[in-house]
Amino acid sequence: MTYPVTLIPGDGIGPELAEASRRVLDASGVSFAWEVVDAGEAVMAEYGTPLPDHVLASIRRNRVALKGPITTPVGEGFRSVNVTLRQALGLYANVRPALSMKGLDSRYQGVDLVIVRENTEDLYAGIEHMVGRDAAESIKIITREASMRIARYAFEYALANDRHMVTAVHKANIMKLTDGLFLECCRTVAADYGGRVAFQDRIVDNMCMQLVQKPEQYDVLVAPNLYGDIISDLAAGLVGGLGVAPGANIGTEAAVFEPVHGSAPKYAGQNKANPTALILSGVLMLRHLGETAAANRVETALRDVIAEGRDVTYDLGGTAGTSEMADAIIARLATRPVAAS
Ligand code: NAD
Repeated sequence: MTYPVTLIPGDGIGPELAEASRRVLDASGVSFAWEVVDAGEAVMAEYGTPLPDHVLASIRRNRVALKGPITTPVGEGFRSVNVTLRQALGLYANVRPALSMKGLDSRYQGVDLVIVRENTEDLYAGIEHMVGRDAAESIKIITREASMRIARYAFEYALANDRHMVTAVHKANIMKLTDGLFLECCRTVAADYGGRVAFQDRIVDNMCMQLVQKPEQYDVLVAPNLYGDIISDLAAGLVGGLGVAPGANIGTEAAVFEPVHGSAPKYAGQNKANPTALILSGVLMLRHLGETAAANRVETALRDVIAEGRDVTYDLGGTAGTSEMADAIIARLATRPVAAS
């Protein structure tokens, strides 16, 4: 079978990472029909929007997309394409694993975290306004529906992936209504999973301290949008940096797979950035498609290349370019038999 997949190369380092990842995934033994569509800065002049309708239509049709990072102007300019995409497609769960790998130079070993981030509301609702000239307000929206849905997703994820503890992250001591509602929903859902998945909660500031002191003690973390975003970058830093942190945006209608990192404009076009995060996002996509054997093959080939440490990019201590690292992974894949999944 051939899978139709929307491929959005993105801005900055996105196109070179997308090309490297597409080549690796094509070598996985699974057949893809890539529908390449552009979004972001590059299409603003042509369409007057960074997210043209045909991009959303392509994802809705194919139900699966692999996406490079897209630049969001700071303080002015167009609204984040990433946030709009997640809201428009109802991609309510952002799943971001952070896993220690042999060969990655980091302060910690044995980290195996999965951050489940609510993806549609919170301060990302984008409802902001000036109050006079010298003050500004941003509205934080937390609903019971979205909080129950993300809590349930986190517990179901834990069950399906043989994980044992869900930790809810919040600031309910200060935001008693919004974060209080989020925590109440997590507690309600946790009661349904008693005896199967353990539950605890942490205030977000303490959570950050705990994660840098003893990350190995945590398993699945569930958080509202903003804390989830910050904690997942922190978790990426625990295991080797943004170059190795993948992500999945999951909804009922579609799923969009993308790295945690952004478009790193200063490295754009230099064949320098690490393709690992986007390739691992592709691995998450293969698992989502039920192509477990191919996912395992790609992940193992990638891990072998990183463990060997010769054909890796600058951030992993190597001198290989983006495409050379992809070549090394493809060479590894070629030496492994394709097993039926
Ligand atoms: P960034 O993740 O783009 O880069 C921060 C730093 O991390 C880089 O300077 C680089 O040192 C390192 N880095 C990131 N990706 C790497 C890779 N693949 N290989 C090696 N090193 C890597 O963060 P930023 O500079 O804050 O954001 C740049 C732009 O990206 C902004 O416009 C931001 O809005 C956007 N962004 C997009 C997404 C997304 O598309 N989902 C996510 C985050 C940020």
